[in-house]
Amino acid sequence: MALVLVMAGVLWGIGAFMGTPRRMRWIMIAFLWVGVVVIHLTLPDNAPLRLSTGGSAAPWLLLGGFAVLVLAYRAVLSRLRARADDTAAIPQDAAPTGPFSATELDRYARHIVLRELGGTGQRRLKEAKVLVIGAGGLGSPVLLYLAAAGVGTIGVIDDDSVDNSNLQRQVIHTDDRIGMPKVFSAEAAMRAQNPFVTVRPYNRRLTADLASDLFAEYDLILDGTDDSATRYLVNATAVALGKPLISGALSQWEGQIALFDPARGGPCYQCIFPEAPAAGLAPSCAEAGVIGPLPGVVGSMMALEAIKLITGAGQDLRGRMLIHDALYAEHRTIRLHRRDDCPACAASRPVGVTTDDQPAA
Ligand SMILES: [Zn+2]
Repeated sequence: MALVLVMAGVLWGIGAFMGTPRRMRWIMIAFLWVGVVVIHLTLPDNAPLRLSTGGSAAPWLLLGGFAVLVLAYRAVLSRLRARADDTAAIPQDAAPTGPFSATELDRYARHIVLRELGGTGQRRLKEAKVLVIGAGGLGSPVLLYLAAAGVGTIGVIDDDSVDNSNLQRQVIHTDDRIGMPKVFSAEAAMRAQNPFVTVRPYNRRLTADLASDLFAEYDLILDGTDDSATRYLVNATAVALGKPLISGALSQWEGQIALFDPARGGPCYQCIFPEAPAAGLAPSCAEAGVIGPLPGVVGSMMALEAIKLITGAGQDLRGRMLIHDALYAEHRTIRLHRRDDCPACAASRPVGVTTDDQPAA
């Protein structure tokens, strides 16, 4: 018996010396054990090899059985430990971690790992209140992506109802919701996408008498309307309240997007478009047509710029306009300048900010 134990020790020592993994060394010793058991089961009782290895198979079988028991115990123990670790790593729904439940943390995990966002950025998104003007072509991706991204409170104002001819591009609405007010159709889609955000639908036209009170409840305004008068009203109200405005517009194959925020530098919408185009010079989508995925491109960019602005990630579009030419697959960015005689923002510009440049921030 001692001879076999010495052989096992020698095998272990040689394995250790040669850098063989522990697992392989145990396998070699298991082979030695199998060899000894085979000797005892096949050779006659008085064979010298049997006499020199203990004389009987019984102690070896006992030793093997004990080894199996130890291995089984270790396997069960490590499985239980792994399960305990898993439970500790994923907190349960009933015990939210900070402002987020475990399900929300998991939902926003791809945001939270981003260096520019992290947990702080995701919390800012949750605390943000964003108002979207229009639940049409641009509003569709804007609303869906803001909801998906976890923007905590999203208001949407529109007085239109879903029409069959909208569905070629307004992907937030569905065929079975034709005739439903767009804000309620959008609300249903957003709630289905992300039940963790608050949606406030306003089924009415934005008018001057309600704009100020409405805008005051939000941190950021996104304008995706195709109505010229509404655009000027949105701009004037945002300027008066000092709210940043992300504005998107479309025509046929081309889209543009800009951030207007004169309170923190840069021009306002009316600095760039001093006067509304004469009736008939700016045809609507219904008259001129618009390629279906284009609002998807521009609206997604608006949602992206909103997320950047809320979280402080990267460089925003203040003082610039991004133009997307879908027909030729080209992007370009132009600089925008303030107009000293702008009727909307010249009077309300903060003291000391007189240039086009962004404030040092
Ligand atoms: Zn202006």
